[in-house]
Amino acid sequence: MPETGPLLDRYGREHRDLRVSVTDRCNLRCVYCMPEEGVPLRPRQEMLSIEEIARIVRIARELGIRSVRFSGGEPLVRRGIVELVRHMALLGFDDVALTTNGTNLAPAVSALAAAGLMRVNISCDSLRPERFRTIRRRGDLAVVLHAMDAAEAAGLSPVKVNVVVIAGVNDDEVLDFAAFARRYGRAVRFIEYMPLDADRSWTRRQVVPSDDIVARIHAVWPLEAEPTDGTEAAPADRYRFRDGAGEVGVVASVTRPFCGTCNRLRLTADGAIRNCLFSDEEVLVRDLVRDGSSDDAIAAAMRRAVWGKWPGHGINDPGFLRPARSMSMIGG
Ligand code: SAM
Ligand code: SF4
Repeated sequence: MPETGPLLDRYGREHRDLRVSVTDRCNLRCVYCMPEEGVPLRPRQEMLSIEEIARIVRIARELGIRSVRFSGGEPLVRRGIVELVRHMALLGFDDVALTTNGTNLAPAVSALAAAGLMRVNISCDSLRPERFRTIRRRGDLAVVLHAMDAAEAAGLSPVKVNVVVIAGVNDDEVLDFAAFARRYGRAVRFIEYMPLDADRSWTRRQVVPSDDIVARIHAVWPLEAEPTDGTEAAPADRYRFRDGAGEVGVVASVTRPFCGTCNRLRLTADGAIRNCLFSDEEVLVRDLVRDGSSDDAIAAAMRRAVWGKWPGHGINDPGFLRPARSMSMIGG
């Protein structure tokens, strides 16, 4: 394992992208993520403070991480998030982004943009108010649509819209979302449903293959794949409408895993570094942050986490085991 230089895994992949879960609490209970009663709340002292998160992210930046995305749970239920963004934006990342369910975004978005937030992804799984509420179990579509307008008004364009597509639940809205992307210039990202729901009810039959989604849209509004050199690490495959009316993307994590180019690592709200959404191997840095360990010791723990990465998540292998943590505890 290299002790200096970029953050490399044993296959030579350089890690540049960090997802930070700032809380595993959430104000919603989406059917594909959390059970109706929520997940048991962990004691506060097990969770990283904002200052502890800031220190770990700074060390990651020093190790060559170029982009950081704050997530959760719902990041906007965490007090101190604006301050955290402000501190992190000063570290010179190429990209400082946030993924949110949009419920609390509109009142906070100007402050977040002024603090240095560059991009926002807003999750929205239906454009039909009743269905939206059924999928999220709470929340209001109008509030989330307003949050998209507010984000654009604050200069965070183009807004990305995350849609988890589930067969028999919202897959009949693929064309509606494509029309929405075209009309508003928002980059809709169709995400395959992954076995990371907390109540473990995921089945493969519920996954709508990204290729089907692209084909359905292409039949109505011809699409062209955005060129890639095959080494880009972005998980979304992007397509632009041939007539120039914007773009959509698909995240084919189940049917076409992108592990080979994955350059991402994750920090959980309780201070574990995870090198894959689907791996249970974690390196706990929280204790190092609290026992007086040096930045070098924390950096070495991060290097260890990245070095230990598997070649792929094996979701399509017969022996695949779901990870113990669900999506709301990892951060997407
Ligand atoms: N609460 C924020 C939100 O909903 O955007 C951020 C955290 S959420 C865990 C991050 C992303 O993961 C969201 O876009 C959400 O839709 C997606 N997600 C949650 N559970 C999922 C699952 N089982 N499969 C695929 N995507 C999922
Ligand atoms: Fe909360 Fe986001 Fe999970 Fe929905 S997807 S329950 S908003 S963390």
